[in-house]
Amino acid sequence: MYLNSNKGYQYIRDGRAPIPKKEITSRIMSAIKAKNTKPELILRKALREAGLRGYRLHCKKVLGRPDICYLNKKIAIFVNGCYWHRCPYCNPSKPKTHIRFWSNKFRNNIERDKRKHKELKSLGWKVLTFWECQINKRVFKLVDKLMIEYNSR
Ligand SMILES: [Zn+2]
Repeated sequence: MYLNSNKGYQYIRDGRAPIPKKEITSRIMSAIKAKNTKPELILRKALREAGLRGYRLHCKKVLGRPDICYLNKKIAIFVNGCYWHRCPYCNPSKPKTHIRFWSNKFRNNIERDKRKHKELKSLGWKVLTFWECQINKRVFKLVDKLMIEYNSR
């Protein structure tokens, strides 16, 4: 895959036709962490109801800008979309076109996640990854998990 930004098109090696840059950009942008996604909102509501207030959202001061964090407890929560971050629990569907492009993209997402988490941990942070499907199914289980961590730090 390479970019030809001068012409406004991005070519994908295994693709049949160039995809307008605008379209692919918006698709890539949506692969980069979107803020305030539906699962994030569900989780935040559950946290407030559980009395776990005082969290910060997408805090610039914290490496990797976790979706939610508790600064004084050094707890970082990443809310992962199952599709983009390749959830290990719900076996998300695979793209049917531009397979090589997307598998690279997914691999990069996963590696970036890993790197981020490792660096945070080395700085003394507890890193929790909450998946979209878990949030949808049983958010309170996640809140319990966080509560244990919260009370022990
Ligand atoms: Zn999932």
